[in-house]
Amino acid sequence: MTPIIIIGGGLTGLSAAWELETLGIPYTLIEVKPRLGGAIKTERRERFTLDGTQFIMEKYGAWDFLEPLGLADAIRSVGRYRDGRLAIFKDGTEMLTDALAARITHPVMTRMAVSSIGALDGGGFGVCLENGLLLQAQGVIVTVPARHISHLIYTLSAEAALLLDDYTYDHVVRVHLGYRADAFDPAVPVRDALPFKFLDTYDFPDRVPADHRLVRVGIRLDSPAMPDPAALIAEARTLIPTTVDPVMTWVYYWAEADPLTRYLPEHAVVMNRVDDLLPPQVRIAGSDYRAKRLEMQVSDGRLAARQVAAAIR
Ligand SMILES: Cc1cc2nc3c(=O)[nH]c(=O)nc-3n(C[C@H](O)[C@H](O)[C@H](O)COP(=O)(O)OP(=O)(O)OC[C@H]3O[C@@H](n4cnc5c(N)ncnc54)[C@H](O)[C@@H]3O)c2cc1C
Repeated sequence: MTPIIIIGGGLTGLSAAWELETLGIPYTLIEVKPRLGGAIKTERRERFTLDGTQFIMEKYGAWDFLEPLGLADAIRSVGRYRDGRLAIFKDGTEMLTDALAARITHPVMTRMAVSSIGALDGGGFGVCLENGLLLQAQGVIVTVPARHISHLIYTLSAEAALLLDDYTYDHVVRVHLGYRADAFDPAVPVRDALPFKFLDTYDFPDRVPADHRLVRVGIRLDSPAMPDPAALIAEARTLIPTTVDPVMTWVYYWAEADPLTRYLPEHAVVMNRVDDLLPPQVRIAGSDYRAKRLEMQVSDGRLAARQVAAAIR
C-alpha cells in the first residue's frame, strides 16, 4: 500500500509532494492532464513571456520557499501594493512549478483521472481511477478544483461532498495582445472596459520585448465552455485605440478561473466543517479552498502533507 496518494499536480499538489520528499515519505501523484503545473502555464511567443494565471503577484514578507528551490533570484519587484510588494517571476511563473516538479522522486501518473475515494474495510483508502484501477493508500491529499471534488469524496462523506457541490466560478478568459510601442498612445485611456473584468498594459523588460507593450484583457464568459479564440481576440481589440494589428496574440482558457464561492463570508466555516467530516488521513488543499495567493498555495499543500503524514503514523 502506498503511504500517501496526492491527487492533482498543480502548485498545491506539487508543494505537497515536495514536503513529503523532505519528510522522506513515499507517495504517488496522480494528474489527469499530460503535464504537471495545473493552471499555471507560461507561454513564450514573439519574445513575450506570458502567464495564463499569476502574472503579477502580491508579495507580503519573504517567500522562504524560493531559496531551497534554487529560485532566490527568480523574482523581481515591480511595485508596491498595500503593505507588500508586487512581484513577477522573471522567466514566468511556471519556473516555480517546474522547480517543484524537478524535486519529485516518487511515481507520477499523468493522463489519469481519479474518480472516487473510499475507506477500505481493513484500514486505509481506495483511490479509484477512471480506468477502473483501484490504488490503496494510508492517506490521501486532494488538490483538485472544487468543481470536481464533490463526486471524488462522496463515498467518504456525502455531507462534505454536498457542502462543496454548488461551487461557482467567474469564467474569465485571459486574452494577451502584443503591440509595437508606437501602435497606440498609452495616454489614451484603455482601462474603462466594462463588462470586461480587467484590462492592463505592461512593458516589463524581463517579459516584454523592447519597444513593445503587452495588453492583458480578462473577458468574462457566460458559461465554462471555451468560445472561439479568434472571436475573443477581436472582442479584446475593440478596447484598444489602434487599428494596427498586434504582433502577438495568446488566449489562455482554464475552466476553473476565479472561484467566487471562496470569497463568501461563510466559506471558512464550510471548509472547517468539511475538514471535520473527512477522516484526518484525507486532507483537501488548494486555491479553490483556502489558499488565495501563490505563497498560500505552497504552504497549504505543505501543511496538508504534514497533516496526512502525522495522521498515518
Ligand atoms: C485563469 C486563471 C487565472 C488565475 N490568476 C491568478 C492570479 O492572478 N493570482 C493568483 O494568486 N492566482 C491566480 N489563479 C489561481 C492559481 O493559478 C492557482 O491557484 C494555482 O495554479 C494553484 O492551483 P492548485 O494546485 O491549487 O490547483 P490547479 O492548478 O487547478 O491544480 C489542480 C490539478 O488537479 C488536476 N485534476 C483535476 N481533477 C482531477 C482528477 N479527477 N484526477 C487527477 N487530477 C485532477 C488538474 O488537472 C490540475 O492540474 C488563477 C487561476 C486561473 C485558472
